[in-house]
Amino acid sequence: MLIVWILVAAPFIGSFLGVIVTRFETSDSAFSGRSKCPECQHQLAVRDLVPVVSWLVQNGKCRYCEADISRVYLVSEAGALVIALWAVAVVDAPFILPSCLLGWSLLTLSLIDIRVMRIPDIMSGFVFGAGLVTSLIWFRSSFSDHALGAVTGFAVLFLVRHAYHRLKGRQGLGKADERLLAAGGIWIGMTGVFSALFLATLLGILAVCTARIFGRQVRGTDAIPFGPFLAAGIWLTWLYGPIFIS
Ligand SMILES: [Zn+2]
Repeated sequence: MLIVWILVAAPFIGSFLGVIVTRFETSDSAFSGRSKCPECQHQLAVRDLVPVVSWLVQNGKCRYCEADISRVYLVSEAGALVIALWAVAVVDAPFILPSCLLGWSLLTLSLIDIRVMRIPDIMSGFVFGAGLVTSLIWFRSSFSDHALGAVTGFAVLFLVRHAYHRLKGRQGLGKADERLLAAGGIWIGMTGVFSALFLATLLGILAVCTARIFGRQVRGTDAIPFGPFLAAGIWLTWLYGPIFIS
């Protein structure tokens, strides 16, 4: 029953996540009043707010003023549903809700990082808090490993960031990345942190190669948000366990 409820709610939660993402660009509160078109300020009706469907039916445009509606909504709504389905397919029943909370938060902070090149501390803080509660409830016996995961996640990227700065004289990683991996560490433990970091690096390299194949110039000095790759590494490690332990 909970599963049905989560799957039905997921796209609507995705809508809200999309609102959070876009509000980080404009610094409006995500909770301020009813949904309006940011262009024409027209209040949106129920039929404008059906996740995914509204966007597709209206071809990504406002019904009142024809302004483009951010593609973020389509991604966050479909993404939230994919995350819920993925969690239902992989984890045991008690872990479905915590997994969705983790996945939805990671999706949100990834979209924010892609769009404004930063990860708000409040997002990493939420991931950490939810992970702390999850660990205290379900991983009592191995809690020290999860706590150590958080410390390791922070320490590893802190060291990498400082070493890189020393060697190259410029910033490679952001401070937000180490906070995110610390928050992920409480979910996936110490071995998990290295697994997530390995996967993130691998996915990052793959993404750069793919971009090059499709003719996009990517130079070493280009700013590429690492948050989405870390988030993917944390998510995969949470679902399938650390890759170094088979
Ligand atoms: Zn409009």
